[in-house]
Amino acid sequence: MKKDQFPDEKRQVSLQIGVTGGIGTGKTTVCKIFESIGIPVYYADDRAKNIMVENLSVRQQIIDLLGEESYFENGQLNRSYIAKVVFKESDKLKILNSIVHPAVREDGEKWHQSQIGTPYTIKEAALMIESGSYKSLDRLILVTAPDELRIKRVMARDNSTRKEVLSRIEKQMPETEKMKYADFVINNDGSESLVKQVYTIHQKLKSLAL
Ligand code: ATP
Repeated sequence: MKKDQFPDEKRQVSLQIGVTGGIGTGKTTVCKIFESIGIPVYYADDRAKNIMVENLSVRQQIIDLLGEESYFENGQLNRSYIAKVVFKESDKLKILNSIVHPAVREDGEKWHQSQIGTPYTIKEAALMIESGSYKSLDRLILVTAPDELRIKRVMARDNSTRKEVLSRIEKQMPETEKMKYADFVINNDGSESLVKQVYTIHQKLKSLAL
């Protein structure tokens, strides 16, 4: 649909672009560069944590599924309790995702609609391919980096052990598999400028949005 068919509703045709990649590949770093050139970014994993606290229906469903211990007395999410339970019972993880993902999708859609004057918006999430949410996007950008570098960067960032990072990498879909779904790949192994790579993709996305 051409933009000039909606002279007063240009926003309805702004594109939705996904940025994904495994743990520590540099998704957030890449998204900050997009933000610095004026592109709005929805950090879906961060939003999900807020939705689990603020959305009363989601909250009640989580309590029904995992118990009152899911929240502290001050109302905040007891993330370590939830992580412990769903780690042991994978069925509960599936149900938890089926509660949280649709609420995040709806919130993200409302957010996207509210963004005015942009050729496209970005949604950042780690498990976009695994969850199937990439299907509703116009284009997908994959950020990749070698495992060793990812391990070093996450250990430095989170003060975590090599073993912890490795076990999270091993649980995720391999990067080579993810590449099959991507329209653009950003290589974050330090050999190419991230800013240049983002800028090149930005130009292509801008022309797609016209
Ligand atoms: P997660 O999935 O864990 O949220 P992420 O994919 O969003 O991770 P970032 O948080 O952007 O990854 O990057 C991981 C760490 O590596 C951060 O501390 C970041 O500052 C650092 N980092 C990312 N890219 C580079 C780079 N090109 N050079 C140096 N450090 C980098």
